[in-house]
Amino acid sequence: MQPTPPTNSRSDTGGKSAALRLRLTAAAENHIRAGHPWVFADSVREQNRDGVAGELAVIYDRKDQFLAVGLYDPRSPIRVRVVHTGKPRPVDQTFWQERLETAVRRREGRFDELTTGYRLINGESDGWPGLVLDRYGTTLVLKVYTAAWLTRWEETVELIRVYLKPQRLVMRLSRNIEPAALPAGISDGDVLHGEKQEDSQLFLESGLHFEADFRRGQKTGFFLDQRENRRIVESLARRRTVLNAFSFSGGFSLYAARGGARSVTDLDISAHALAAAKRNFSLNYNLPAVANCRHELAQADAFEWLAGNLGRKFDLIVLDPPSLAKRATERAGAMRAYTRLVQSGIAHLAAGGILVACSCSAQVTAKEFFRVVREAAGRSGREFQELRTTRHAPDHPATFKEAEYLKAIYLRRR
Ligand code: SAH
Repeated sequence: MQPTPPTNSRSDTGGKSAALRLRLTAAAENHIRAGHPWVFADSVREQNRDGVAGELAVIYDRKDQFLAVGLYDPRSPIRVRVVHTGKPRPVDQTFWQERLETAVRRREGRFDELTTGYRLINGESDGWPGLVLDRYGTTLVLKVYTAAWLTRWEETVELIRVYLKPQRLVMRLSRNIEPAALPAGISDGDVLHGEKQEDSQLFLESGLHFEADFRRGQKTGFFLDQRENRRIVESLARRRTVLNAFSFSGGFSLYAARGGARSVTDLDISAHALAAAKRNFSLNYNLPAVANCRHELAQADAFEWLAGNLGRKFDLIVLDPPSLAKRATERAGAMRAYTRLVQSGIAHLAAGGILVACSCSAQVTAKEFFRVVREAAGRSGREFQELRTTRHAPDHPATFKEAEYLKAIYLRRR
């Protein structure tokens, strides 16, 4: 006897077609059993019919027992994103409400009123595959990375609105799914609820004021994942001259300034990012440490800038480049780029100076990245003391290998 498939309360099959049923290769079955949330297209062995984006696919194992249910996407190499394994159960509004409540509860007590910007839902690792929800004060920003959500966005938005009651709710789309969103009538940066005039929202992180460019900015408008590293940088910054390479909107710099840095240099290729950094500084001039810190902006390719300007030495250097490997084939190139970056960073480090090297490339593991940085430091002919390494922030949980991207290592030149 077949187990009852979880009901699909949605009408994308018109309520007429049979549930979409899949069988997988033995290896894929094992991955799912081990808790991995992705089914790749080439591991689908059998399926009873074609499916549409966002519909529920029910996966049965070799013994015809229910294995998992997930969101189907006919155009993605990640064909199914698993949402539930174990005993069959309906994946309906109640299911998603429970998921939302769990994600919210997971963050309860983590942030006081001095931090009003943080991640509420971190994709697969919070049981919401390919979906992110960030809070900036009274604005919530929903970002979807898979077309599967495009047929489900209305009910998802309604759930968030009713349960979390934001003053404003914004929809962001990863670039690859923008074309697929057109028929649904949504585009990147749409304000789905609340005040539509503004493009940015003020919020607090560790008591510092920041602005999130929620309609057009990278990610959802700010890099919330670096909060813990910024706090560490603040604790190390006293009386130091700081270079913040790949600064974006100056997150690390403001913490360094509050921590007593003598000067901070924001280095970024984007004029837009540097303009935001300047605004973020002015938002915090009420703090004497920030007002007294010399703030320099340098618009340049950081690789080139670091290769030259050798007369410039700093007591604290943060290197936080964008992902240098989007695909597995780019891994080796990324490792070389990290080596080059660390070598040229070290060339600018004054005696006693601290280097903070970060990587957000999921294709490069923490172990590999730390090895590359340690080796580059070892070859520099200078002596280093390793202060610490860090991984993901608590509001950015990572429950499987591909979700782990962020790592940082702190070295002090003797
Ligand atoms: N450290 C930042 C986040 C960095 S995101 C924070 O804490 O918020 C990466 C930044 O690198 C982006 O602002 C992007 O504009 C910048 N960037 C990308 N390529 C660059 C390059 N070649 N040189 C300098 N900046 C670059």
